[in-house]
This record gives sequence, structure tokens and C-alpha cells, in this order.
Amino acid sequence: MPGWELLGKEEKESVCDIFDKSNGVLYRYGLDALRQNIFRVKDFEQKIAEKVGSKYSLFVSSGTAALKLGLIALGVKPGDEVITQSFTFIATVEAILEVGAKPVIAEVDKTLNMDPKDLEKKITDKTKVIIPVHMAGVPASMDEIIKVAEKHNIPVFEDSAQALGAMYKGKPLGTLGKAGIYSLDIGKVITTGEGGVLVTDDGSLYKKALEYSDHGHECNPSVPRGEDTRSSWGFNYKVTELQGAVGLAQLKKLDYVLEKQRTNKQKLKDMIKDIDNIELRENPDEEGDAGDTLIFFVESKEKAKSFAESLKENGFGTKNLPDAIDWHYAGTWTHIFNVYPEYEGKNLEEIWKQSTDLLRRAIAIPIMVNMDDTQIEDWAKAIKEASDKIR
Ligand SMILES: *Cc1c(COP(=O)(O)O)cnc(C)c1O
Repeated sequence: MPGWELLGKEEKESVCDIFDKSNGVLYRYGLDALRQNIFRVKDFEQKIAEKVGSKYSLFVSSGTAALKLGLIALGVKPGDEVITQSFTFIATVEAILEVGAKPVIAEVDKTLNMDPKDLEKKITDKTKVIIPVHMAGVPASMDEIIKVAEKHNIPVFEDSAQALGAMYKGKPLGTLGKAGIYSLDIGKVITTGEGGVLVTDDGSLYKKALEYSDHGHECNPSVPRGEDTRSSWGFNYKVTELQGAVGLAQLKKLDYVLEKQRTNKQKLKDMIKDIDNIELRENPDEEGDAGDTLIFFVESKEKAKSFAESLKENGFGTKNLPDAIDWHYAGTWTHIFNVYPEYEGKNLEEIWKQSTDLLRRAIAIPIMVNMDDTQIEDWAKAIKEASDKIR
């Protein structure tokens, strides 16, 4: 799965370095001489931008904050609509709510990402942004989504929280639309404990997000910070050098994480390829997949339940489907949607029927970086046994 498997000596040394070399300056700005001119957050921002090939990157306190900042910078206002997909972490919808906009939910298709056909049906004259999510490191059908977005002249903002380093047709996820975000929370590809990164090629979008993330500071190079200029107010979503230091060490491990996940996922797929009563999730770019999770469908909701129970009996847990579906499927979020007249008192799972059918039949297997061949074989055996039980 993620960078947390590999948190160790390098991250510890990188953090100690703040005290050994920079006199413990934890703030991302200023005190240049005391810190020996070492700026870890800034350095991390530059390295991540280089890695994904974007012009600008902003490292903030969480992926959720990065989503909110992106929406603010894209000019989303109360009363606007933002379209995202039914299968995502709840944070995507929370960011939309935070800027006062209305979350509009498109169905997922067999990729378990945004269904481009349903996306088009959900567009209205209030739609301001489209947020496809690359769930579990598998790219959404970006060609089709971008085509619909361009036809209606609406910016695409990628929630690549789970997909740092994953690609779509040779391009890093997060860089295919107007802007993108990555999360660095504890469950993601690499981690700084908490953290998020906004990437974009648009200088004015970056500037707006930067200012909002730091009380409106324009980071005007011609004046000291205390006299910094401002043209609007913001909030505080800054990170400290602690996250910067950990991020720098983690980023060096990104290629290794991706390579191991992809190899381990392929091995498991090969071992279970003859099981004929499961159907793999569709993947718009097998090679670009981060390799984080293997998801497949069984015949029915009931069978998915028995399947997960059988895995559990053998000591194996699932990843989000079905175990944490309540945090990842809009169909369960009555506490969010009950304020809108069209959803009030309704069974949301009946509204997003296509998503319900797919997600309720899905089993997600976590792929670990540190899985050895014996563990992969044990997983394959447990999957085989569970699939036999539901025949
Ligand atoms: C993790 C996640 C987020 C939010 O990131 P945080 O860093 O935890 O705030 C947003 N969207 C998706 C799809 C995620 O998985």
C-alpha cells in the first residue's frame, strides 16, 4: 500500500537535520541565516513539481485543504455546482461544501471512477468545476471526461489524492486538467502524517491558492514578511518544516513504492486469473495504475458479504470495499444530502443505482509494498477459497 510501510531511518534523519543544521527552525518562511538557508517545504514543493512535471506546487496541511484551495482559486462561489463521483473519500464532497457550493454526484462505471456519460447528464448552467477522482490509484477515463468538460467549457480539477506517481497515457495524474491534488495522509502512496499538495501550470490559480492558504500573504519578495502586501483575506493551511523534511525523504522512495506495488499486484492477478466467478474492475491504463489495490466484482451484494466474511475468517481484511464503504460511497451520506429537497428522506442508494450495484458487489484487496511471495500466495489462496464458497 503506501509510504507508511517505509517510514524509518531516512525520515528520522531528515527530521533531525532540522535541528542539527537549521537550529530547529520549524517555520516554512524566514529566519534565513538561522536556518542556514535550508527551506524544506519549499524544496519539497519544487521536487514534487519536477516529479509530476507541473509548473507550480503548493504543500498544505491536508489533501482536503488542497481541494478547498483549488476550488477557491478556480473561483467557485456559494450557489455554484461542482460535479464529482459517487465513489470517493468523503473529503472531496466536504471541500465542495466548504466553499458553499453544491456537490453534484455522477455515477461511477466499471472503472469505479467517474462515468463520462453520466457526467454529461449532470452538467447544468451552474456547473463550475468537474472533479474526477482516481480511486485507489487507477486513472479515471480522462480522454472522455476532458472531452465532455471542453465541450461545456468547464475546468477539470483532479482529485489524485490516492494517485501520486500514477499515470494516464504517459501523463502523471493530477496534471491532465487545470489543477490537481495529492494527499500525503497516512494511507496514501507516500506520507507526511498529514499533508496535501496542489499542482497546476496556471500561475494566477497558484497565486490565489497560496494567498488563501496563508492569511492572504502575497509573499511579495520586495518587502519583509511583516510588511507583506495583500489583496484578499484567507486562512491558515500552512505546513511546517517537519512535514517538509519527512516529505523529502518519502519522495525518494516513491519510485520504489510504485514499482513494488505494481509488481505485487501483477503477481496476485496472475495467481487468481483462472477464477471464473469474479470480474476485475476495468482499468483505463493498466500500466499507469499505482498498483495500490486490486478490486473485483462478484455476482451479488450478498455474495460480496460472504466473500468478505470468508477472507476475514482467514485473517484477511479488505480495503474500503466493503469494510469502509460508508466513508467512500455518497449513497450512504444522508447527513450531507438531506438538506437538499430532491434528496430529503430518500434512499440515496436508489438514486445512484449504477454505483450501488457496482460498489455493493465489489471486493478491494490491499496491495502492500512489503508483501513477499508467500504472502501474495496466501492472499491468492484465501481469494480462491472465498470464490469457491460463493458458487
Ligand atoms: C485521502 C483523500 C482525500 C483527502 O486527503 P487528506 O489528506 O486526508 O485530507 C481526498 N480525496 C480522496 C479521494 C482521498 O482518498
